[in-house]
Amino acid sequence: MKEKVDVLISEEQILKRTKEIADELNKHFKSLDDGRDIVLVCILKGSVMFFSELAKRLDIPVEMDFVICSSYGDSTTPGALKIQKDMDISAEGKHILLIEDIVDTGRTLKRLIEYLNAKNPASLTLCTLLDKPDRREYPVQADHVGFVVPDKFVVGFGLDYAQRYRNLPYIGVLSFIEQA
Ligand code: 5GP
Repeated sequence: MKEKVDVLISEEQILKRTKEIADELNKHFKSLDDGRDIVLVCILKGSVMFFSELAKRLDIPVEMDFVICSSYGDSTTPGALKIQKDMDISAEGKHILLIEDIVDTGRTLKRLIEYLNAKNPASLTLCTLLDKPDRREYPVQADHVGFVVPDKFVVGFGLDYAQRYRNLPYIGVLSFIEQA
């Protein structure tokens, strides 16, 4: 089978929307003006590009941290969350900005949000580059969404297929072509 990627969202569109989300976040956190630390948390690996583009456009002081996690379970139970790398910075009393690549079934994020909320942050804000609502099984709603995408398998801008395609500067739909 040959793989094919068709552009769904261009780099230009992604960067324009990222700037809009950064503007909303700048405005929100400046209006709070409560002196609390703001921690940008990147969910590795898929969020890495969105995380860096967003971070560059924030003009408020932020700290950065990284988590690696996965969840087990099915459509009826979210199952256990496996944290391969936890936050290094204490979340207690801080504003946590969780940066995700795509919300699909919502299983991983539902458990991760519960896990991070148990650390008693001052607030937890969820930003996702992509939202695929058609496949949602758990009621996770991001506070800031880059783009709503159809129920297709997408790659690029951090998102992979078998660890490849993360470096594409755009989001594309991956399909497989049978070779004669
Ligand atoms: P969820 O727990 O919401 O079902 O899945 C979240 C994770 O599944 C995402 O962080 C992402 O790694 C992966 N995922 C879901 N949909 C896609 C997709 O269309 N493309 C890629 N590359 N990964 C996806």
